[in-house]
Amino acid sequence: MSIVQEIRCSNCGAPITFNPGEIIATCRYCGFTQVIETGQSFVFEHSLIVNEYKPEQVDDLVRNWMRSGFMKPSDMARTSKISEENLMYLPFWMIPLTATTMYKGVFERLTPPVMKDGKIEKKYNWLVLARKAADFPTREYEVPLEGKIPYDFKKVESFAKVLNSEIEKDEALEIARQQIEGLHRFLAQQDVDKIIEMKTDFDAGDAIYLHAPIWFVAYEYKRERYHILLDGATGSVIKGDIPPAKFGLV
Ligand SMILES: [Zn+2]
Repeated sequence: MSIVQEIRCSNCGAPITFNPGEIIATCRYCGFTQVIETGQSFVFEHSLIVNEYKPEQVDDLVRNWMRSGFMKPSDMARTSKISEENLMYLPFWMIPLTATTMYKGVFERLTPPVMKDGKIEKKYNWLVLARKAADFPTREYEVPLEGKIPYDFKKVESFAKVLNSEIEKDEALEIARQQIEGLHRFLAQQDVDKIIEMKTDFDAGDAIYLHAPIWFVAYEYKRERYHILLDGATGSVIKGDIPPAKFGLV
């Protein structure tokens, strides 16, 4: 069970509630972002991706999504009932970095097998969700950076929830490194059958802390409940459950 705790905003004195495990909190009333433990101002760039949709518009976006594509039941848009629409601003770390991987491996599809060297060098704006247990498909989500502004609490709707960060910058960087190493290992394996040696160097720039608007939508179809995640900046569905379509004779 989580116990909500409270501190005072170092800037305006308003109460800031937070949950155990959260380490960076943003004040609802003035937008001041501080490190919970010390009350110190947060020193990195804090950005906001602006939400462009109202709840009624999200309704339309969801119905349009239900009508499009092949794999969906044909009566889905007509008969589904949208039962929940919650706007949440999720915290992310975005880390600009260049990753260079040198690898050595064996190409076994030839007889005799040959040794092969390779290099993968890529630039990323790598996104790490600043929450520990959240089920969010970060790799399927491209942050719409055109909509990025300095964090402005006045742009956050009163009905929306802003989640605090549970992950600090260095930890986010470590997560990014592990994920990129995994990706580069996968890429190297397309080139050689067996990797013998692999080393990745990282050159990281300044991380940006940002909040991005995500609509959590639930709908009922034939008495079953399904979920959709919708990007509040672009209106596109990031991930959506689709009821199994029934085939055959009815
Ligand atoms: Zn405040």
